[in-house]
Amino acid sequence: MITSDTKELALELEEVRQCPLCSGEKAVTVQQLDRFIYKKCLDCGLVRLSNRVVEEQLSAIYGDAYPQPKIEMRLPMFNSRKAILERFIKPGQERRFFELGCGDGSFLAYLQKQGWQVDGSEYSSSSVAAIAARFGLTIRQGSAEDLAGQLAPQSMLGFYHVLEHVYHLHDFMAAVEQLVLPGGLIHIQVPNIASLDIKLFGKYTKIWTVPQHVQLFSPDTLQQLLKMHSFEIVKQGMYDPWYSPGIVREGFIRRGQASLFKWDDQRLLCMGVSGETANYVTANEEKSRLSLPRPIYKLLKMGLYKSSEALAHLEARFNRGNVIDLVARKSVI
Ligand SMILES: [Zn+2]
Repeated sequence: MITSDTKELALELEEVRQCPLCSGEKAVTVQQLDRFIYKKCLDCGLVRLSNRVVEEQLSAIYGDAYPQPKIEMRLPMFNSRKAILERFIKPGQERRFFELGCGDGSFLAYLQKQGWQVDGSEYSSSSVAAIAARFGLTIRQGSAEDLAGQLAPQSMLGFYHVLEHVYHLHDFMAAVEQLVLPGGLIHIQVPNIASLDIKLFGKYTKIWTVPQHVQLFSPDTLQQLLKMHSFEIVKQGMYDPWYSPGIVREGFIRRGQASLFKWDDQRLLCMGVSGETANYVTANEEKSRLSLPRPIYKLLKMGLYKSSEALAHLEARFNRGNVIDLVARKSVI
């Protein structure tokens, strides 16, 4: 969400010299968007944003509440997540789930409706209040690190599209380790940097989202991270019914618009909430509207939805999907 408060904000950047995963310093540039540079660590392969917005300015980038599309649009995703979680529930076992960084709380509300015991957390107090007002759900406020000392370990904990935003990767994972019972499970989703989307759409895929995505995982680097924190992968997929077609679709749209309207890199920052570019985006928004007769527009839109879904499925089948969706178990020792 671009707000008037963030429009005038001058972003302060800090250089990230060491790899957040292995602390290695040798890295090569793999992508540049405007002045934001992604580098790949030559030791472990993790891709990181090498110049990121200082932590003090994060709230300005994210705003108060994280905008989410309508619940109905996300229902296939909620169903799919629930089905994955249910595979690991033993007969007679209580269905209990904790979501770290639960956004607008709608997945928790959905699970609760299906008879699950739910709990969760959000960083900002305004999100916590919004979830209470909307769903009557009382969740906890704070970071994973804040919770680690207070909350009893969980049998099943999820965090979706969180890891790519985390500033202190090992602190976060150490907290997760503390928050999960021995033998307990975590369910994770992150964008996949090894996805075919990167090859097909280059800088136009929203897998690169600056300045919010500060690191990007492949199945290999994610496994390295989990291993370092005593988790072992027990199930891995590469398709999410809502995110995967959506990411492909966005790639098609951006690529098309970029060539039609001669975008420069600054336009690509529009999905980020970078205040500096907000004015630019607003000024150029007009240009990105195609004036087409309604039936042709509808037909094009349907074609786009169908082909994006088909391509996302195909990518996942060849293990190059754009979302890594995995369940990992914490070691019992
Ligand atoms: Zn590394």
